[in-house]
Amino acid sequence: MLGDFTFLLGCSEPKLKALLESEGEKAFRARQVMQWVHQRGCSDFGAMTDIAKRLREWLSTRFELTEPGILSDHLAADATRKWLFDVGSGNGIETVFIPERQRGTLCLSTQVGCALACSFCSTGAQGFNRNLTAGEIIAQYWLARSLLLDPISASPTRLAEAEKIEDDDSDAADTAASRPISNVVFMGMGEPLQNYDATLEALHILLSDLAYGLSRRRVTVSTSGVVPMMDRLAQDCPVALAVSLHAPDDALRDRLVPLNRKYPLADLLRACRAYLQRAPREFITFEYTMMKGVNDSVEQAQALAALLSTVPSKVNLIPFNPFPGSSLQRSSAQQIRSFAEVLLQAGITATIRKTRGEDIDAACGQLAGEVINLTRRRSNAAQGSAA
Ligand code: SF4
Repeated sequence: MLGDFTFLLGCSEPKLKALLESEGEKAFRARQVMQWVHQRGCSDFGAMTDIAKRLREWLSTRFELTEPGILSDHLAADATRKWLFDVGSGNGIETVFIPERQRGTLCLSTQVGCALACSFCSTGAQGFNRNLTAGEIIAQYWLARSLLLDPISASPTRLAEAEKIEDDDSDAADTAASRPISNVVFMGMGEPLQNYDATLEALHILLSDLAYGLSRRRVTVSTSGVVPMMDRLAQDCPVALAVSLHAPDDALRDRLVPLNRKYPLADLLRACRAYLQRAPREFITFEYTMMKGVNDSVEQAQALAALLSTVPSKVNLIPFNPFPGSSLQRSSAQQIRSFAEVLLQAGITATIRKTRGEDIDAACGQLAGEVINLTRRRSNAAQGSAA
């Protein structure tokens, strides 16, 4: 037995071909298996009728057909949907679907918890257990899509949304109903670039025409600034890039994003400029969580504009989402608008993110999952939240 169904979900075409060949099977069958599993969402080898019987038998003796378990499924008032998926040993990871008028975005997790302990982040406060495998990352997409397409489980609000679109735009309605996930962001639990190999394998599967066929522009990896891995991603699989910035200078960023002590802003911005040479978009998105009295002054907006003057940028201002144990507060709406105005006047595109799924703790920075912390820094994180 090679593994369970999740293992199979994490095999890109070259890996699956090598596996089949090593077992005396024909490599080209990998294409058929991938199409059945990813495009048709099939987890029953017996149902893969155009595959030779011998291969179907081989598959069923090598892969246990246990699909990943769902621990909870919540729907917010704004139709944002959040799942807690079981990844074993008492751990659960969160995946969020955010429907919008012209697109549906799935936010994936890459680690059980996170070791980086950013002081404004609920995931960071939970501690870290382990990296997810490529199969566990793809399983989130596979399950979410099948749940969104399931007429019984599909969100009534999402279906209503599709109907609403249908009134004036039949193409958009078709997309909403038949292909609910149009964009993927690696912004859930964990730092994707600290789980590089699994993230890369998952990216290849998301982009593969044998699987989900997403364009590089519609897949975004978000990093807190793991500089060497940003350089590698630019070479290996340049998708859209978002950087969790949150501060305009090293002194403050050292406190908010401890990784900054290792890779300070000068290094980070150098890596951003280099990334843009190969990126599918012509700008880097910088995420900036707005925290009252911490990083939201007009002077800090001016410093941010100066900092980003050498990198084509789009700044996404995110109102801080409070979570239990944190003493930080959200900036006022007026303060966020004033901050955005300074950036806009400096010629930098700035948007204010609409908070989604807040009533089910699915908003940005609120994902906590269920993490058996294997680090000893939970108390440090709690202290850090007052930074
Ligand atoms: S913001 Fe990202 S990198 Fe920082 S602790 Fe949270 S999940 Fe980890």
